[in-house]
Amino acid sequence: MYLTKIFKPAMPGDPGTVMSLKGGPIKVDYIRVGLANDRVAFKPTRVESGAAEGWLSLGDGKITIKTAPDLPDLVYAIERPPGHYCCECDAPLDDEHSARRHVLVEHAGMDPRKVPDSAGVQANYYDLLATGSFKASRKSHPAGYERINYYDCVKA
Ligand SMILES: [Zn+2]
Repeated sequence: MYLTKIFKPAMPGDPGTVMSLKGGPIKVDYIRVGLANDRVAFKPTRVESGAAEGWLSLGDGKITIKTAPDLPDLVYAIERPPGHYCCECDAPLDDEHSARRHVLVEHAGMDPRKVPDSAGVQANYYDLLATGSFKASRKSHPAGYERINYYDCVKA
């Protein structure tokens, strides 16, 4: 995913305005997309900063990136927002407690006392290469659930 910010002059005080190296106020005009991956894990911090700078919006289950004026916006559908998910049935789960309860009640034979390893917090690009998905396997998450801290998205 290669995204380049293209700046334009701005009025001081405009949302997302920063000072250029020459000292004038500028803001992001649009994003030049060099390569748009089919599946992307957007970090919440990047979504927040992109929204603050005005080149990204989050809503209606989508992340939209503002591209050049003569090109359509780049849109990603959010398959899984940050949170807990069952590795067996993909169910979204409210929190650590309900995740353990879900695994105990719904998936006998799994051990929810095993806390998910930290690999689940970051998008696993090795899983993506192997399976085409960020979803963790039972092998990588013996607790039966995972916690992700990114927006798991597919190009719309
Ligand atoms: Zn389940």
